[in-house]
Amino acid sequence: MSQSQETLSNLLQETRRFAPPADLAESANVKADAYAEAADRPGFWARQAERLSWSKPWDEVLDWSNPPFAKWFVGGELNVAYNCVDRHVEAGNGGKVAFHWEGEPGDARTLTYADLQREVSKAANALLELGVRKGDRVAIYLPMIPELPISMLACARIGATHSVVFGGFSADALRTRIDDAQAKIVITSDGGYRRGKASALKSTVDEAVADTPSIEHVLVVRRTGQEIAAHERDVWWHDIVERQSDEHAPEPVDAEHPLYILYTSGTTGKPKGILHTTGGYLTQTAYTHYAVFDLKPDTDVYWCSADIGWVTGHSYIVYGPLANGATSVMYEGTPDTPHQGRWWEIIAKYKVSLFYTAPTAIRTFMKWGDDIPAEHDLSSLRVIGSVGEPINPEAYVWYREHIGASRAPVVDTWWQTETGSIMISPLPGVTEGKPGAAMRPLPGIAADVVDDQGTPVPNGGGGFLVVKEPWPSMLRTIWGDDERYVKTYWSRFEGLYFAGDGAKKDDDGDIWLLGRVDDVMLVSGHNISTTEVESALVSHPKVAEAAVVGATDPLTGQAIVSFVIPRGSAGGDVEGDDFLKELRDHVAKTLGPIAKPRQIMIVPELPKTRSGKIMRRLLRDVAENRSIGDVSTLADSTVMDLISEKLPSAKSED
Ligand code: ATP
Ligand code: MG
Repeated sequence: MSQSQETLSNLLQETRRFAPPADLAESANVKADAYAEAADRPGFWARQAERLSWSKPWDEVLDWSNPPFAKWFVGGELNVAYNCVDRHVEAGNGGKVAFHWEGEPGDARTLTYADLQREVSKAANALLELGVRKGDRVAIYLPMIPELPISMLACARIGATHSVVFGGFSADALRTRIDDAQAKIVITSDGGYRRGKASALKSTVDEAVADTPSIEHVLVVRRTGQEIAAHERDVWWHDIVERQSDEHAPEPVDAEHPLYILYTSGTTGKPKGILHTTGGYLTQTAYTHYAVFDLKPDTDVYWCSADIGWVTGHSYIVYGPLANGATSVMYEGTPDTPHQGRWWEIIAKYKVSLFYTAPTAIRTFMKWGDDIPAEHDLSSLRVIGSVGEPINPEAYVWYREHIGASRAPVVDTWWQTETGSIMISPLPGVTEGKPGAAMRPLPGIAADVVDDQGTPVPNGGGGFLVVKEPWPSMLRTIWGDDERYVKTYWSRFEGLYFAGDGAKKDDDGDIWLLGRVDDVMLVSGHNISTTEVESALVSHPKVAEAAVVGATDPLTGQAIVSFVIPRGSAGGDVEGDDFLKELRDHVAKTLGPIAKPRQIMIVPELPKTRSGKIMRRLLRDVAENRSIGDVSTLADSTVMDLISEKLPSAKSED
């Protein structure tokens, strides 16, 4: 294939390798033979489904007779809350801790599995009293407090479908999600603690539900004690839930019963209501949590730092870990409250052994400095994970060294709201890790990288990431819009699920994610990924974070424009021409002259979604001098003003 025809250039060469520690490899839950054992995919997933307790066995593992509408474990019945809570109590583990919950102000709560069983049962009875029935939708708009997983499990217990909306979203965002799902009640709190302050939630709900005819009640948890406006539809959690019986018989539902709707984070545009169902979803979240984190439920303490408002929190704070009977940490607040070592303090306090976070957090810690984690005892950590964006090799190596003590394997896990669970990831006891690579599809998953004809690219080639066979935790549709489901995910390539991401296979056939294909830059006939140029910039010792976009250019078609945040420790004149030239040369040296940015702007912050992903489409607006597009899913909308102010000083040369 000639260079000008290649789908996506493969520029970055990375030679560092990290083998699993011998003891971990020896005792790993999942060993190398798992890949061969999974050759019969339905048979493999049927064995994994045996991890769960079914009240009625399934007749057929997979019905794929009407693609792309899959049915897994057809005819089977189970209850998710029973699987996540009751069965552990019945097995004699009622006294085991399910959650060590840590509030931002320093308060803490411990919930055992027996506590959880009582709390979830009471909440389920309260929902029933409020008129919620099997199949109804419940919106949940809560901070990271125990009532959030309790509410989700209470819904699952009675067969109601939850729709968790991230507690930082606006009234407008909440309203459109409530309307889209036609939710009957919304569960919220007076407020929550973030950055040392009590921030209000109930007032946002009041604004949202002023105009949502489907909502009958607002169920309010008291968290901060702040003043709230009272409405007739309001019910206090402590009034209604506390007086319920702490017994409730979980209702078995069909394997394909809707468990939840969750809207994607909206990096690329209008959020989509992704529908997940019951049996297949719980099977794959449980299996992947067991395999990718090597969970030993009797000895490990697991912490996923995501917000439950994102899919990572659904699958890897609530459903996967609880299905596996794990002991988890849950934290309410921000990483810098009251100081920048708060997370490491929590890891030391609970002796966390398995930790899961996002590249955006890792890069922030790099920016804050190595000395902060060094002050804490992190020696309990044995597997550390990353999710949400491609992890730049430099960030991976920093994470491994400064958090994982150069011992704990880093698992870079690729997946999406749509996939429900991890799809591509190293196995910590098997894989020789490469910094920046998600490596290989997990056992039971058929993913590949194809060219624009849908043909697999050879090793060394780049293209589109696709999934070739249905998987148990796949989305079933976009809520209320089957047509958009088919169009969005299944029409780019015949018979293949297209995820929207670019990727490459290295010479060993291992997979590297290269960012979204919508963001790919076409420079002088070469398709260049944003990820590779960003990683090259981040590999410069003075750079903490970088985002790059392609801007229209009369000479090259598109030209690479970069936005860079220097490290706190950088020193010197980081705005001067010499430094900018040094960075541009550094990229040219790392990736080749074709990838040299036309322009580099030093900025104080980057526009990110509330889930921490860089929003490149807004930077493209800046780079092309357009007015800035929709910023409603941005974590901090003032960031764009800061960046625009920088524009006149933008540097460009040769
Ligand atoms: P929207 O689809 O509305 O734009 P979103 O894609 O940001 O929102 P999510 O489902 O939370 O919403 O994110 C999934 C995306 O995150 C993936 O498609 C991929 O681009 C990126 N991603 C997640 N994990 C990884 C990873 N380990 N490596 C590379 N990219 C990742
Ligand atoms: Mg997406």
